[in-house]
Amino acid sequence: MVDAVRLTERARRSAVELQTVAEVSLQATQNLAVADLLRAVVELTKQRFDLYHAHIYLLNEEEQRLQLAAGSGEAGEFMLAQHHSIRLKQNSLVARAAREKRGVIVNDVLQEASFLPNPLLPETRAEMAIPLLVGEDAIGVLDVQSTQVDRFSETDVQVLTTLAAQVAVALQNARLYEEQVAVAEQLREVDRLKSEFLASMSHELRTPLNSIIGYAEVILDGLDGPINDEMQEDISAIHGSGRLLLSLINDILDLAKIEAQQLDLDIEPLEVKPFLADVTETSRILIKDKPVELVLDLPADLPQAQADRIRLQQVMNNLISNAAKFTEEGSITICARQNNGVLEFSVQDTGIGIDEEKIAVVFERFRQVDQSSTRRAGGTGLGLAITRQLVELHGGQIWVESERGKGSRFFFTLPLANGTSE
Ligand code: ADP
Repeated sequence: MVDAVRLTERARRSAVELQTVAEVSLQATQNLAVADLLRAVVELTKQRFDLYHAHIYLLNEEEQRLQLAAGSGEAGEFMLAQHHSIRLKQNSLVARAAREKRGVIVNDVLQEASFLPNPLLPETRAEMAIPLLVGEDAIGVLDVQSTQVDRFSETDVQVLTTLAAQVAVALQNARLYEEQVAVAEQLREVDRLKSEFLASMSHELRTPLNSIIGYAEVILDGLDGPINDEMQEDISAIHGSGRLLLSLINDILDLAKIEAQQLDLDIEPLEVKPFLADVTETSRILIKDKPVELVLDLPADLPQAQADRIRLQQVMNNLISNAAKFTEEGSITICARQNNGVLEFSVQDTGIGIDEEKIAVVFERFRQVDQSSTRRAGGTGLGLAITRQLVELHGGQIWVESERGKGSRFFFTLPLANGTSE
């Protein structure tokens, strides 16, 4: 009879203990901040297992020390504030559990020669230390203490070993998460510094460059007196290179701003027809010496686009100047039409075209498909990267259809202005 009662009592106790393990594990896995996680585990373990004290040490591998990371009650707080730690080699129950990677029990601390009484925990009579194992490694120790002699059994070791395994996994996850958050934060900071640097460098470079361009114009306009043909040619070269460099610096600054999400669009309803007519006229200069026809092909009716005029001009200029750069004869056709609830624009040329396998990379930064033809035509490989970003900032898409030797057609879409329907 007595045995039956004892058995029932044991069964009840282990059911409660398993439930507690599940509860503590759940708490642990729900917590992604390491310190909070460990504090929750020690408090719950102490409470639910009816213990005198519980604390967790974490291994500092470099220093070969077990560093107190959480402790229950006031004693725990105090020891934590004191940065309490134990050397891995020390003759202590906690260090032994970490070294031997298994749970260890001292059921009567007063009989244990190596037991060092802690003045903050004067009533400890029994102690059990369980390693926190991840794979083969002990990353810390869960140490529990009771005021009762003979409090801990092998069953307790098993129960708390299960608990410690869950805590170790949760701890590992929380550490990885904290690391990830820290790395993401660092990356954001590096990115911010990069953009800041680029923005200020671009400004520093642009100021003297603008004065080079400006003074070259003054001389070319004859404001400083007459110049001969040779001087005219040389200063035109200075002027041309200056403008090229300025546009490169502007591109770099734009890209830096877009990537730092600092580029704000000034989006308004835009009348597409007159806008494209303007763009076409100002682009004529790009093909002035070539047998290339510039055609604007628009339907009678076109709804307004929702766009930033200046940035859309930049998009069109990039596409048309590429078409002009890579087309020796034939035509460049600019189209726009309404299609599936958006406005679809395209710039089509009869130039050198792009190989099928290169099409995927033309919108990437610094990509130039054919080094030799680009070197002849000039460029940095930034134009299409910026163009894509600008289109996407408007909520549109960009793509290209092209065939080597036949020509290319770049398409992009823009939203219709509010209130304009199909
Ligand atoms: P780049 O300043 O070199 O023109 P882009 O980003 O504007 O840089 O273009 C990237 C590359 O895509 C170009 O170097 C060129 O190889 C290819 N490309 C762009 N537009 C055309 C086009 N209309 N026809 C043929 N190739 C083109």
